[in-house]
Amino acid sequence: MTISPAERRELLKAVYTEARGCVACALHETRTNVVFGSGNADAELMFVGEAPGANEDLQGLPFVGAAGKLLDKLLAEIGMDRKDVFIANTLMCRPPDNRNPYPHELESCRHFLFEKLELIQPTMICTLGNFSTKLLRDDPTGISKLHGQPEIRTIGPRTVRLYPLYHPAAALYTPSTLEMLRADFLRIPEILKLGPPEQPVAAAVAEPEELVPELAPEPAVPPEAPEAPAASEPDLPAVSDQQLGLF
Ligand code: URA
Repeated sequence: MTISPAERRELLKAVYTEARGCVACALHETRTNVVFGSGNADAELMFVGEAPGANEDLQGLPFVGAAGKLLDKLLAEIGMDRKDVFIANTLMCRPPDNRNPYPHELESCRHFLFEKLELIQPTMICTLGNFSTKLLRDDPTGISKLHGQPEIRTIGPRTVRLYPLYHPAAALYTPSTLEMLRADFLRIPEILKLGPPEQPVAAAVAEPEELVPELAPEPAVPPEAPEAPAASEPDLPAVSDQQLGLF
């Protein structure tokens, strides 16, 4: 589908507004913030982690704790930073005590991840760890078998280069895992250089409205008009580009 950068941002903000009011699973009861994801809305490279931890829950941003610092370091080593990529998670709300996501939580949050994929249209997705790898590959094979092996995969309406990586948190205290993660990371630029894989015909010709009817942009609002609050959480502040980190 063809979508302009401005439309993309508006549609992402609409998904974010919807996500902030999400009560589809019990995690909404304990969250401080929905961690929608952040980064470059036009990114070719997207990372998908597992779920927000305590710091992410407090700040509403992904990978802002120790694992995030390692992710930043690895990005810097390949000449990139957060404004070059988009970072999301399989779950947008923190599981209490950082427990593993439950299958029904992954299931109820999955459509939000797919909507991000559909709008951002990355060429390449690096899954970080087991949960995102299994979810996006729709297969139970674990990360230790798959890490560092790029494959072309159709996920929802998009075909991408999927590149499973160890989760940075797993590498924090295990030097051998860090070594493997770093070696896999160093191959990201060469895989990105291969460019976008061929898209399925339906995605190539469909118009945005056909794929995301519920996200059709609102009629233009004068810039000075306040943004409408989310229907289900009327007290939330308006969504800003800065909150979303949409550079
Ligand atoms: N771990 C994740 O998987 N995601 C985050 O956002 C932070 C830590």
